[in-house]
Amino acid sequence: MIRFDGKVAVVTGAGAGLGREHALLLASRGAKVVVNDLGGAVNGEGGDKSPADQVVDEIKAAGGEAVANYDSVASREGGAAIVQTAIDTWGRIDILICNAGVLRDKSFAKAELDDFEFVFGVHYFGTLYCAHAAWKHMIEQGFGRMVFTTSIAGTSGNFGQSNYGSAKMGMIGLMNTLAIEGFKKNVKVNCISPGALTRMTGNLGMDEDFMAKLRPELVSPAVAYLCSEECEATGATITAAAGGYGRVHMFETRGVQLDPKAGVTIEQFAENFAEISDLSKADPCTPGAEGKIQERLDKLAS
Ligand code: NAD
Repeated sequence: MIRFDGKVAVVTGAGAGLGREHALLLASRGAKVVVNDLGGAVNGEGGDKSPADQVVDEIKAAGGEAVANYDSVASREGGAAIVQTAIDTWGRIDILICNAGVLRDKSFAKAELDDFEFVFGVHYFGTLYCAHAAWKHMIEQGFGRMVFTTSIAGTSGNFGQSNYGSAKMGMIGLMNTLAIEGFKKNVKVNCISPGALTRMTGNLGMDEDFMAKLRPELVSPAVAYLCSEECEATGATITAAAGGYGRVHMFETRGVQLDPKAGVTIEQFAENFAEISDLSKADPCTPGAEGKIQERLDKLAS
């Protein structure tokens, strides 16, 4: 059985929706949990302590250990204070789930730059501030698990979500490098790309039977596994919705190799564009470009 006894977890945005389920599951398996939530509206306005308090009460009523924190992830001080709550209460932080989120959807033609800054503040910078504050503790103790919450709006795009989608994609970039830098110290950093019916998604207006399957608690086992000692993966983006799970990854096509000595014309590039773009022959992107460049040059030479 995968358990979290002795582990201290911080879950941001844990007063409702997905974060609440993650917090309840980790606590039910022995983790001590900082339940962070600002308690605002879906667009980020307002604040209320009761969502975080209620989740703490639920965890305690079930025999677990939890403490509330009401800071916003969207400031340096907030991110530091959230992590400090774990240190002050239990002397360590082992697990960080960056889940807090807001929406300010508008088509790009109508997009307000203020909304971009606000959404980036919560999603990208909120993740960064918490991760930055937790990092040194995890590196020093030689153990850490981080899960960032991305979205299909980032990995595939979605009409009206240019601010949200780009912030969600930014955290995949952050994960990619943290996964490399944390590897030797057993600090694993992964992303979850969830799908669930919450107040954020609202009533999607889809078939009732389909929507009934989009239960947030079906996302939490994937998140909890990524937070466990048993998890060896790092730098992975896992999709989770309605009990279906998969992995999203960037791939580069095999492409073509033209002669670098002879030079390349625009027309040559255009003639090869279909083969350059042929996704049926592609390899997963891995760190470092030199190997791939050399491989193509070797093919040209042979
Ligand atoms: P939700 O609105 O139920 O929960 C988000 C929580 O974050 C709320 O309780 C809110 O008060 C809190 N929060 C917002 N701003 C905060 C801040 N600055 N500091 C601290 N807490 C803050 O929504 P949800 O669907 O549970 O979303 C959770 C995460 O999953 C979000 O990051 C969201 O973008 C992501 N996500 C959700 C879905 C989905 O299908 N529900 C899909 C893709 C990604």
